[in-house]
Amino acid sequence: MKTFLSSFISSLTPYTAGEQPQDRRYVKLNTNENPYPPSPKAAEALRTFDVDRLRLYPSPDADGLRDAIARAEGVERENVFCGNGSDEVLALCIPAFFDKGGRGAAFADITYSFYPVFCDFFSVPYRTVPLKSDYTMDLDAFSKADCDGILLTNPNAPTGIGIGRAVMEKFVAENPDKLIVADEAYMGFFGESAVSLTKRFKNLLVVKTFSKYYSLAGIRCGYAVGDKALIRGLFAAKDCFNSYPVDALCQAVCAAAVSDGEYYAAAAEKVRSERARLRTELIGLGFFVPESASNFLFAGHPKGGEFIYRGLKERGVLVRFWNTEKLKNFCRITIGTPEQDDELLFALRDILSR
Ligand SMILES: *Cc1c(COP(=O)(O)O)cnc(C)c1O
Repeated sequence: MKTFLSSFISSLTPYTAGEQPQDRRYVKLNTNENPYPPSPKAAEALRTFDVDRLRLYPSPDADGLRDAIARAEGVERENVFCGNGSDEVLALCIPAFFDKGGRGAAFADITYSFYPVFCDFFSVPYRTVPLKSDYTMDLDAFSKADCDGILLTNPNAPTGIGIGRAVMEKFVAENPDKLIVADEAYMGFFGESAVSLTKRFKNLLVVKTFSKYYSLAGIRCGYAVGDKALIRGLFAAKDCFNSYPVDALCQAVCAAAVSDGEYYAAAAEKVRSERARLRTELIGLGFFVPESASNFLFAGHPKGGEFIYRGLKERGVLVRFWNTEKLKNFCRITIGTPEQDDELLFALRDILSR
């Protein structure tokens, strides 16, 4: 029977997002959301938003929000691009910066699993570079890789391991002919952002999101910071696809959030101290847990990731598990509030004592 689907779309394997189940209440530690609420200033922007403004199209280039981001990041408006989630910003990077018949993109074999999906969707070739045996990025191998650009999650997911600014600077300087896209979705929990380097390096684009650090996953907004020429490329790609990706409400709420640095720094500090506690507790329960620079832990156990994942789900705690050769011993566990993490630890003790 005719399906009406193109053979191209039928040939693709789309990204699978983490579960967002609605069947019962879970302690949700599977998609790296911030356990603390958005800033009171963001809440105020939402409460006082004039609904009549929704009659009109929003600023197509999100200029007010770009100004707020530019102020917070110490750059100019022309250095900022906004999209409907950083997923959209990252997706637009592929047609903006890579040729179908070119040398393609490179990224780690264990990293954000959306990258190969974006490349396939835009028919851009890619190669993967294995992590080192200690799960860190093999930057020397990236420097040697024959490619037009590198997608580098920093801190990496799902390992949580970060690359400091000095190391990043050396890496970007060493690769002047490659575009480095630094996906800093979790950088707020590390504090080593490469944004300041974008002023000196025209081959560096930093991508960030409101979903994790800014506690606004539900609003869908992300942005890129880089040289004006790169930003113009992203605008050209956007205007071939969706002229108004960031709605007016989103622009108002995110502008308020990004201007409340103090609130978010305090929330991130709570996450970091909880991260240290949870890691110690997990190691005590027999897990292998690399030091994390992020708001989640990459936790391996001799009994296997699936055993842990299933046992936790039965007990009402959700974590992320990937059934692949390299990841099957691990779960990725989002840092929750101390109360949520206590529930996780209680469930783990129960599972492991059986
Ligand atoms: C969560 C995440 C994103 C996507 O963020 P959105 O802005 O919600 O689309 C991008 N990159 C990485 C590595 C992430 O973990």
